[in-house]
Amino acid sequence: MTTDLTLAPGSTIGILGGGQLGRMLSLAASRLGFDCHIYDPSWAGPAARVSAGQTNSAYDNVDAIRAFAKHCDVVTYEFENVPAQSAKMAASAAPLHPGVRALDVAQDRLKEKTFIRDIAKVPVANFEPVNSVHELRRAVKHLGLPCVLKTRRFGYDGKGQYILRSEDDIAPAWAAMKDAPAILEQFVPFRREVSVIAARGVTGETAAYPLVENVHKNHILHTSTVPASGDGGAAQGLAIQIMSALEYVGVMATEFFEMEDGSLIVNEIAPRVHNSGHWTQDAGCVDQFELHIRAIAGWPLGDVVPSHAMLMTNLIGDEAESWRTLADSPKTFIHLYGKKESREGRKMGHVNQIIGPYPA
Ligand code: AMP
Repeated sequence: MTTDLTLAPGSTIGILGGGQLGRMLSLAASRLGFDCHIYDPSWAGPAARVSAGQTNSAYDNVDAIRAFAKHCDVVTYEFENVPAQSAKMAASAAPLHPGVRALDVAQDRLKEKTFIRDIAKVPVANFEPVNSVHELRRAVKHLGLPCVLKTRRFGYDGKGQYILRSEDDIAPAWAAMKDAPAILEQFVPFRREVSVIAARGVTGETAAYPLVENVHKNHILHTSTVPASGDGGAAQGLAIQIMSALEYVGVMATEFFEMEDGSLIVNEIAPRVHNSGHWTQDAGCVDQFELHIRAIAGWPLGDVVPSHAMLMTNLIGDEAESWRTLADSPKTFIHLYGKKESREGRKMGHVNQIIGPYPA
């Protein structure tokens, strides 16, 4: 007997997390006739304001998570730090995509790097777990300088990271970790950073967008350009290899360091839609938000081949105040997240610009 895994329009999709990624997922889902229910500790955040319903409670309130999930036909998430117990509770009450395994791997850098290297068989930078200043000293000897110390959990946009260039950096680097479990990685002398946004469906079919080149400013993504020069086939293949090893369902981002000789090293994965995939919204193909909804709803993944080459630029803090000029510019599409308060370093919106035909 075959089971129909397809979710019909009119079904309810639950989203754990209420920020801009949840907002854009909800907007895409509503285009396909779904209702979204947002779970977010704060009231009326960016996602809830465009959605059919919201639950406001803490992410570790397993009773509230169960009640929320029971009312949904499928549950997904827009950030990777959903507590493990809450994810398991959600998965016991409704299908959870991507699953508990993907979350477990992605929220801990040690598990993530070990999984990618040993199970998915994809290259990562050499690394060692570090739990004390003595272990850090030993790991620096093994891996050599320079190297990068990172907290195992809750690091993003360069937070919880320390670059060590000499032995004098060991004590301050460890102090900066505040005793949090960490990993030490070899410093990678990459020539550029690229990413692949790809999806895997409930029956294992996959789809990948062209390779993206990413430039960061102050540790935050500044621009994504598509297509990145060169052949993206190898990176796409590695991303799909990781998704298959995780039996992943949904959109996943894989961030790579590209070396001088063109070889690729995975930096990290994000088990969700990703900032470096925002360009897809205006590229003349199924965008990453709709792709994720299609994947978790068991729909055909659809066409991920863009019609245009694209440049995405993030609007951080006050940069969003240029909305009037941007809104009046040709081949420019502005996306604002409706955040009530602008703060330094806060992602307020992004702009997508068509920069040419695809393929060239
Ligand atoms: P992450 O939070 O791990 O994505 O790191 C943030 C940024 O720090 C990356 O996008 C890189 O620019 C830089 N970085 C992280 N790890 C390394 C590494 N092992 N070698 C060189 N640069 C790194």
